[in-house]
Amino acid sequence: MEFTNVLIVKNAKEHGVNNLYVTNGKYSDKSYDKIHADCNGLVAYPSLINIHDHLVGNWVPKGAPGRPYANTNIWVKELNDSDPIKERDKYLKTPMSHLMEEAGLDLAMLGVYKNIFSGVTIIQDHVPRQKDEYYQSFPIKVISDFQQGHSITGKNWWGGDELSEEMKKTRGKIPFIIHLAEGSDELSRGEFDELVEQGLLKSNSIFVHCTALTTEQFKQLKAAGASIAWCPNSNIYLLGITLDIDTVLKLGINICLGTDSTLSGSTNLLKEIIYTKQTFPEIPNETLFKMVTENSAKALMLDTYKGKIEPDVDANLLLTRMNKKDPYENFVTLNTCDIELLMSVGKPIFGKVEYLKYFSWDAKDYYLFECNGSKMFVTGHPEEILKKIEKKLGYKKHFDYLPF
Ligand SMILES: [Zn+2]
Repeated sequence: MEFTNVLIVKNAKEHGVNNLYVTNGKYSDKSYDKIHADCNGLVAYPSLINIHDHLVGNWVPKGAPGRPYANTNIWVKELNDSDPIKERDKYLKTPMSHLMEEAGLDLAMLGVYKNIFSGVTIIQDHVPRQKDEYYQSFPIKVISDFQQGHSITGKNWWGGDELSEEMKKTRGKIPFIIHLAEGSDELSRGEFDELVEQGLLKSNSIFVHCTALTTEQFKQLKAAGASIAWCPNSNIYLLGITLDIDTVLKLGINICLGTDSTLSGSTNLLKEIIYTKQTFPEIPNETLFKMVTENSAKALMLDTYKGKIEPDVDANLLLTRMNKKDPYENFVTLNTCDIELLMSVGKPIFGKVEYLKYFSWDAKDYYLFECNGSKMFVTGHPEEILKKIEKKLGYKKHFDYLPF
């Protein structure tokens, strides 16, 4: 398949108008069939990676009655008694360690749709490791190769092994993910030393939040080659602060941007990008672009996709409108309805209905709706999940990340 005359943004440095080729789910150097999509005036980006989400936590509205918190251990305890969680739990009955039962899977799928509608095709779902069938249930990639801890203070209260055992199981070959120093008090500040003591500061570590870290600790983190998952909207909402981004960028730490769940974070990853740009206008657009593409691919140790458009890697494509001439400036202003087509490994996931004619497709596999006057499709049936939730609650529930 060939996308003709499209502005291809290969990575944070290289871009130009050319034809883009996809063959058997991979980007290729030429077309092997006669399928052409004219994409004059459109931009092709590598699709996005959401480094931090809790898929079943994507309920609304946000719930944090006692904010700002000195640390989020307080919030996690309060959350279970909060209105949004009480409402969600009328639907979700399964514990976090077993999400394969229907309601858990439905809610996780809703979280996947949040991501699809923001150009994401790869998600790190931070929960205890589920059965393989869970990861095989989704139309985009929810990473299954990882080990995790909830946090240093809370340990693995939600399921999983001892933190050091979880790290051991990675054998350095898959990422180890943990919330770290999410607060501004003594308790949060003490977590880094404990982490080092427990042998968790490694090159395959991804530390989420890091709001209490000092410059010295960031230097140690950089020396170890670890990565950071940054969720500024969630941090500022819950804590009133976020990490020292100037120091992190100056030190050249591998930093990635994620959403967290909608109980504390942005509506979706595109909104998180817009929020971050508005809050930190000094961060170059190209840097923000890297934080949701190649930096995240590196942190998650992905092997068939590096968050770039290059031959022989998975054709994960985010094709959008061009509202701004500079593609990186365009990137930091994108919204759901600017998406023309989202592909995961060459498969159409979401986009304008007119693109479906280039693929072999079956109407029953898609849900069709309108977005800003355009007819759109999305893979699967999110509307069925909404119906089930409505039946259980007895009233209609609206999720603002769903564009219908
Ligand atoms: Zn989180």
